[in-house]
Amino acid sequence: MALKTVEEYIASLRELKTRVYMFGEKIDNWVDHPMIRPSINCVAMTYELAQDPQYKDLMTVKSELTGETINRFTNLHRNTEDLRNKVKMQRLLGQKTASCFQRCVGMDCFNAEYSTTFEIDEKYGTHYHENFKKFLAFVQHNDLVVDGAMTDPKGDRSKAPHAQADPDLFVHVVERREDGIVVCGAKCHQTGSVNSHWHIFMPTIAMGPDDKDWAVSFACPTDAEGMYLIYGRQSCDTRKMEEGASIDVGNAKFGGQEALVVLDHVFIPNEYIFMNGEYDFAGMLVERFAGYHRQSYGGCKVGVGDVVIGAAALAAEYNGVEKASAVKDKIIEMIHLNETLYCCGIACSAEGVPTKAGNYQIDLLLANVCKQNVTRFPYEIVRLAEDIAGGLMVTMPSAADFNSDTPVGRNGETIGEICNKFFVGREGVSTENRQRIMRFLENMCLGAAAVGYRTESMHGAGSPQAQRIMISRQGDIAGKKAMAKAIAGITD
Ligand code: SF4
Ligand code: FE
Repeated sequence: MALKTVEEYIASLRELKTRVYMFGEKIDNWVDHPMIRPSINCVAMTYELAQDPQYKDLMTVKSELTGETINRFTNLHRNTEDLRNKVKMQRLLGQKTASCFQRCVGMDCFNAEYSTTFEIDEKYGTHYHENFKKFLAFVQHNDLVVDGAMTDPKGDRSKAPHAQADPDLFVHVVERREDGIVVCGAKCHQTGSVNSHWHIFMPTIAMGPDDKDWAVSFACPTDAEGMYLIYGRQSCDTRKMEEGASIDVGNAKFGGQEALVVLDHVFIPNEYIFMNGEYDFAGMLVERFAGYHRQSYGGCKVGVGDVVIGAAALAAEYNGVEKASAVKDKIIEMIHLNETLYCCGIACSAEGVPTKAGNYQIDLLLANVCKQNVTRFPYEIVRLAEDIAGGLMVTMPSAADFNSDTPVGRNGETIGEICNKFFVGREGVSTENRQRIMRFLENMCLGAAAVGYRTESMHGAGSPQAQRIMISRQGDIAGKKAMAKAIAGITD
């Protein structure tokens, strides 16, 4: 049963006892909740496409751990082709959902854990790599979604984990037992957390000897005793709760999801521990996970960008301006920016290298350049989309007005008739289609979907400054100086 169907995935979520809170209350049937379900549909697409003969080669691989055909989202990258196919798969998912489909954090975590646990064992004679391999084989065989949980709340940013006034501001070990550890703390803005069967917790920064209890990594079922999730809200999210408001929602079928994940004295058995006090490896795990996730953005955001560009082109067409040279040029610019991001995603994959454990790593410098561009280009793409669409994308009356038969005009015309009369675009285009594309753009540019396309582009996989630090470390400035000296004839 190495590939689940969509129905099996949804059914498997219902079996969990995940504790989800939203708007100050516990949500029992969160699987069918109108604000949560679009994000589940999004993850479900990773299952649907894996069953589709058209996408089989991109979406599935043969596992070296289990010998079974598995979803690529649970794969260990075996070569640079795998790394490139990962990015292509993410672009495809972005195109199919116009949203964050959440499952990549687990995939990126698997690959970072696989190589890091190998190197911890090599130095300390621990058994984390075997633990991890066993866990991953279980994930692959059962086609599970795993949240790779990294970002701690961090409290006072100028202080290390052990120096915080509240030790829980970074996930840490509160008790070491013969059979395992007890952990406390939380992880913020966890993508796809509620929709995951398991979580893997990782440290969020490099650590020193005093942070030993905070240098901890482990797997934990999402419904573990003591674990609960508080759902993050998004701009215009309650539109999803309005009856008959699918047009106003924009992207009504799909959406992203983030949550605060709290660990309140959760017991972790030994077999699920992948790091326990080896603080000198915390930085390696962070760097590798972040590197993979910065590569990921050269796929997922490009796929979403494709849909935004398509929507802007449609808006131009519906407005009757698609032949204007200024509009054409803006679309060209959007494509240029979007494909530049894709170039970065493919380049850092093509330049990948094997780790000591045998799986493949991306080129770290190029992956950081990729993500740095992602902190900028989607903003420009969105600016151009808004420019092309016009102000109507944020000023139009609601779908309820368009559908209203309340008389308002002199001759008894309804509110709906009046809206349809005055919001008509080019001849032959229904007002409803124009309304749909405008609301879709609103959703993508500044509504709930903008979480995934804009702010996540800025802060997801690390904020821009984190990439600049990596770029300065990897950029070999000394080597570049030497090149200049050699050619300029400077000898010292
Ligand atoms: Fe995947 Fe992109 Fe969402 Fe990260 S932001 S989980 S890479 S879709
Ligand atoms: Fe993300």
